Amino acid sequence: MKTMTCKQLGGACDHRFHANSFEEIAEQSKKHGMEMFQKGDQAHVNAMNEMRELMKTPDAMKDWFENKRKEFNALPDDK
Ligand SMILES: [Zn+2]
Repeated sequence: MKTMTCKQLGGACDHRFHANSFEEIAEQSKKHGMEMFQKGDQAHVNAMNEMRELMKTPDAMKDWFENKRKEFNALPDDK
């Protein structure tokens, strides 16, 4: 298992996610982001808007995703 925070995954808080694969952690982060967005949490609304901007450029989004995947893979496993 590896750990990444909401902030590390393009979010806005220090909430920690634990997963065995990048796909899994990306999914958790997305779910958490949506929940906070629905609660109207301003920091997460801003983060979500930035992400939407990024999605307008598919290549930029792909690069971002790949960089985060590398970051995840480089992390040490949780003890
Ligand atoms: Zn968060």
